[in-house]
Amino acid sequence: MSATQRWIILADLDAFFASVEELLNPALRGKPLIVGGDPRSRSVVCSASYAARAYGVRSAMPMSRAVRLCPQAVIVPPRHGVYAEHSRAVMEILRAITPAVEQVSVDEAFLDITGCERLWGTPRQIGELIRRRVREERQLTISLGIAATKLVAKIACDVGKPNGLVLVEPGEEQRFLAPLPIERMWGVGKVTADHLRAYGVATIGDLAAWTEERLTATFGDLGRALYRGARGLDDGAVHAERERRSVSHEITFDVDLDDRAALERALLGMSDQVAAQLRRQNMVGQTVRIKLRYPDLSIATRQATLEQPTDQGQAIYAQARALLRRNWHPGQPLRLLGVGVAGLLEGGGYQLELFDASDQKRIRLNRSLDEIRSRYGSKAIRRASQLPPGEKASGEGDVDQER
Ligand SMILES: [Mg+2]
Repeated sequence: MSATQRWIILADLDAFFASVEELLNPALRGKPLIVGGDPRSRSVVCSASYAARAYGVRSAMPMSRAVRLCPQAVIVPPRHGVYAEHSRAVMEILRAITPAVEQVSVDEAFLDITGCERLWGTPRQIGELIRRRVREERQLTISLGIAATKLVAKIACDVGKPNGLVLVEPGEEQRFLAPLPIERMWGVGKVTADHLRAYGVATIGDLAAWTEERLTATFGDLGRALYRGARGLDDGAVHAERERRSVSHEITFDVDLDDRAALERALLGMSDQVAAQLRRQNMVGQTVRIKLRYPDLSIATRQATLEQPTDQGQAIYAQARALLRRNWHPGQPLRLLGVGVAGLLEGGGYQLELFDASDQKRIRLNRSLDEIRSRYGSKAIRRASQLPPGEKASGEGDVDQER
């Protein structure tokens, strides 16, 4: 294993809710068990034990259909609080291996174990350690896929389920994927699979035989993703969420402000400061929030999600300004205005190549602004659009952080 070889694990608990119910009530063990609501209602299957799956019962299937397929199944209503406790304990086991854990759902997480070999051994040994700890400490089985990319790790995990560990060596991705049915490809659902089969594509290997030109001509953007996917290519990084969940900044005005241009200038300045803070912490965020406080001290907060996580002041400002324009009428006085970013992720996977040329230029510009600010203090440099300060903003709130 070379120093630069990337290793990613996808860890996914087997039939999680059903397994927890079996754990708490051993009499259920090995029986067809369905976690879900009343079959006479419109509820769906939350989780099914493998004994129930043998009858064709699947997650998200209507309960009425599930009980027709498996009338003898024991039905247990979901207890999400109980599952959440078990989930937290398992995620702790994963975070003891590496802090680079991206939890995807209550029972599933990616781990980036690149460089962990000195501490924990080879990728396979790390996988065995995780499985042993989850079994011994939580009496649950967890399946793992281990590979150089998230995409292949995910597919490897699915292939090995239940109670499996499948490791795909770097360079072996295409050979591993080729014989698999097209439904195994990440992002290919039933509709797309049927569509592909109409073109004679039944396996991932069939897909790999198509040229990129033909795939994109036939399927557009999806075609490009399929071309890369069929080769196991995926440069998505594991985004570990840190403890800190948001970064924000707010200003209390000396005099209540009701002028749009002045408010937007304040918003721009704060957006830049929030962005600089994100960059210092090597974080990106996906949710932009604004906070408005009125003269009667009532507070309104509004938020929106960006298409891409960012650490760029302009992107934060554009969203914050749109929120302000939607939620504030000119002439309405404000005592305080704030902007914040939540949904924070590690910025490690943030690559210049993903952005077009003008974005790249702006990113580089902001990085050099950060350097100047850190050398001369934040007052040393302002964007031209912040310059004519029609209002006097004082009492700049400290950057506040939740949790
Ligand atoms: Mg699972």
